[in-house]
Amino acid sequence: MDSSYLKQHSQSADANTMFDGATLTDLQKSLLAKVDEYGIKWAERAFKYDREASFPTENYNDLKEMGFLGLCVPKRLGGIGADYRTYTLVATRIAYYCGSTANTFNMHNANSLWTAGMVDDMELTDEQRASHENNRSIHYANMLAGKIYSQPFSEGSGAAAGKHPFGTITTRKGDGWIINGKKIFASLSGSADYYGVLCTEDVPNASLADTMFIAVPADAPGVSVVGDWDPLGMRGTVSRTLIFKDVFVPDTAQLMPRGMYIKAASQYPHMFMTLTPCYMGVAQAAYDFSVAYLRGEVAGVNVKRRMYPTKQFGIAEMYIKLQQAWALFHRVTSEFKRNPSRAERMRAYACQYTIMEYCAEICAAAVRVCGGQAMLKTFPLERMYRDSRCGALMLPWTSEICVDRLGYGLLYNENERDD
Ligand SMILES: Cc1cc2nc3c(=O)[nH]c(=O)nc-3n(C[C@H](O)[C@H](O)[C@H](O)COP(=O)(O)OP(=O)(O)OC[C@H]3O[C@@H](n4cnc5c(N)ncnc54)[C@H](O)[C@@H]3O)c2cc1C
Repeated sequence: MDSSYLKQHSQSADANTMFDGATLTDLQKSLLAKVDEYGIKWAERAFKYDREASFPTENYNDLKEMGFLGLCVPKRLGGIGADYRTYTLVATRIAYYCGSTANTFNMHNANSLWTAGMVDDMELTDEQRASHENNRSIHYANMLAGKIYSQPFSEGSGAAAGKHPFGTITTRKGDGWIINGKKIFASLSGSADYYGVLCTEDVPNASLADTMFIAVPADAPGVSVVGDWDPLGMRGTVSRTLIFKDVFVPDTAQLMPRGMYIKAASQYPHMFMTLTPCYMGVAQAAYDFSVAYLRGEVAGVNVKRRMYPTKQFGIAEMYIKLQQAWALFHRVTSEFKRNPSRAERMRAYACQYTIMEYCAEICAAAVRVCGGQAMLKTFPLERMYRDSRCGALMLPWTSEICVDRLGYGLLYNENERDD
């Protein structure tokens, strides 16, 4: 499809809806402009990745060329040095063009964002700090050299929801670790160079405190990718199953010092919100497509529909939801910090829920408002509709878990219990 309508609309998004009220830094502006340079190509390739359920390798080659695999690698260590909010802004814009690229780019960046400033600000011994510096320099250098990381946590149990320790086990052996286990829905399976695995150290009575975050090379003996991948949406994520059978990794594979992951998870709740921008970008894209379509500006269907009051009403309803979502997005992504207040935590759940649900609602409304011709596979809307449904399913902050935690957290103060 000819996606040139995006040229005009991605720019109008800047001026009208995307970032008003939140000042952008020069770095943020330049990163968004860089994404716009490549974005239309990504939007056009998205059809193929969706049809084939194949990984957006060409887009990742572009991301490498752009230096974006080092987006969240600190400047001091050679990266772009994007902080949390900058990452989220960039991710919205990548998703605007290709949802699967943004969804998987989130997994790659978790490996740098979580291991940089967040760990620096935590209480570590000098020894831990030195070994972390050594380990992450190796992984950041890999990223800067174009290596792709992923983030397979899910196991099909309550572990990824934080209910009990991960079933993937790591056992100390000499100067390294042996890993055994299975991860489901491992986005970038077969395309990542390293899998950033959450696993449990093999110690007596292991608990969540024994969670370890370890980078496993995709080509290490004992790593295999199994199963099919033919899902409803986000098909380009290629999230197949990973098996680890007696996989040995050296000590330098540790992405966080022992015991730190669970502390980071409780002190930085916003770290689990980094897929929100992906679905914010998809929502904006569905809205912009609808405006262009109703104005008769989408190549292939040049019939204007904007004069009908029902269409005007429909687009107004979409816009209202979009603005509500952006307002929460900007507020909450600006509240990222260590140990946020209770109100900030609650707002983060509300933000994640709102964006994941509204994205699906906006995409569904877009199909209805634009009509039958717009949902043909020659247009991106039906893919956005399917992709949008995936956001609410992402552990650990699925829509259901967000509501669960909000309901409890709003009615109970810390340590309060009923008999
Ligand atoms: C396109 C796509 C890409 C993905 N990529 C990755 C990836 O790269 N890495 C990764 O780790 N995972 C990934 N996931 C997996 C995702 O995070 C979830 O783990 C997965 O969708 C859960 O599937 P399930 O059937 O096991 O759900 P279940 O665990 O059975 O959960 C079903 C629902 O029950 C609810 N639920 C589950 N546990 C609780 C609880 N303790 N309290 C309250 N409610 C609960 C939740 O709402 C959940 O949505 C991906 C998923 C999709 C769809």
